[in-house]
Amino acid sequence: MTTLFAKRALLPSGWAEDVRIRIGADGRIMEVEAGAARDSGDVSLGEKTILPAPGDLHSHGFQRAMAGLAEYRSTSADSFWTWRETMYWFLSALSPDDVEAVTAFAFMEMAEAGYGAVAEFHYVHNAPGGAPYDDIAEMSSRIIAAGETAGLGLTLLPVFYAYGGANKAPLKPRQKRFETTLDSYASLRAGVTRAAKSGAPDLFVGNSFHSLRAAGPEEIRILTETYKGAFHVHAAEQVLEVDDVKAWLGARPVEWILDNTPIGPGWCLVHATHMTEAETTGLARRGAVAGVCPVTEGNLGDGVFNGAAYLEAGGKIGFGTDSNISISLADELRLLEYTQRVTHKSRNVMCRGEWSAGRTLYELALEGGAAALSRASGAIAPGRWADLVTLDPSKVSLSSGEGDRLLDGFVFAGGERAISDVWSGGRHIVKDGVHVRRDEIESRFRASLSRLRHEAP
Ligand code: ZN
Repeated sequence: MTTLFAKRALLPSGWAEDVRIRIGADGRIMEVEAGAARDSGDVSLGEKTILPAPGDLHSHGFQRAMAGLAEYRSTSADSFWTWRETMYWFLSALSPDDVEAVTAFAFMEMAEAGYGAVAEFHYVHNAPGGAPYDDIAEMSSRIIAAGETAGLGLTLLPVFYAYGGANKAPLKPRQKRFETTLDSYASLRAGVTRAAKSGAPDLFVGNSFHSLRAAGPEEIRILTETYKGAFHVHAAEQVLEVDDVKAWLGARPVEWILDNTPIGPGWCLVHATHMTEAETTGLARRGAVAGVCPVTEGNLGDGVFNGAAYLEAGGKIGFGTDSNISISLADELRLLEYTQRVTHKSRNVMCRGEWSAGRTLYELALEGGAAALSRASGAIAPGRWADLVTLDPSKVSLSSGEGDRLLDGFVFAGGERAISDVWSGGRHIVKDGVHVRRDEIESRFRASLSRLRHEAP
């Protein structure tokens, strides 16, 4: 059991001073007391401010290894689809050891960026060529191991993936590593659930089908009836995808999902990028989370999320690092706001009324992340997982380093350097800005990377 003493903390009721936070041996917050006196056994945080650490609601850990490899213009019109070919090429050499090493590295960087947990959207199930591993949950187990190495709370989402495009197009040879049927998915789920039983108490298994490019209506009906709880889905990332789905099902992807699935609280539509006004308000009303990944969406040239209208309609938003091209919580929050500013030719768009944009974006990340990860986190309150981050105002040059100004500085003024400590489920994994196992995780990552760059066909 540890008790932290913070001069300043962001509580559900707002900013508070002289806060004692008692964390139990199980990794949950037991008690929070504001306006308290410091006890001699407390761990003092000095001048640092403590905040809940948001969950990263969408990641493909292995893609961290190809960061920077698709930034060279190779055709007259590079696009998401040409990027995807690079990703598939890269995948063909990726072993379970590589997936574990690269994912642990990505998770470590997430912690250093201020995330307190992650939802890993995991769809690489099979060996190169498509044959299943002897243990169908081999790759999923490697993700779990990566989470344990990094100490980052994990919601593992084994992904159903049956087709190579809308209208049940057959899988391309390079997509065979993702292939599941309803039967193999059931076996995979059983294997993952078994593997998770010996994992950390804050390891959760969730549900996912990849997208309407990779699952048909009948399979989606069976999946949502069979596996209770919320689902994560790639929704409407690309205009071509929207057009293909409309030609096939007579409805746009988000429209179809709203009309044909039990979508509701906790569901996470990742890249709900291309939505009509009706889809935007419809999604907000259903209580689902729009999982935005502004850095990846910008990197891939996806388009701009209808953020202002969605927020106005009361929609929940959370943030993901997706391709992990660069891992930065502050960048994700800032880029969402900036895409809205350039779209609307206005400032401080992602706010409800007169309020701090930094605080609004941060609180959206807290609430949306916790809902999408099905993780009792996102607040410094009894019963919640102790997912916490401290910011050291002395590390950034800001006119005021307190309260909402601190969050505005964090999001907009290079405040990432202020990240000092991170706890995930009570595990103190980042100290003075550096992950406690960085050297070992980084050296395994570098070894994988160097092998992959030589061996990828
Ligand atoms: Zn994704």
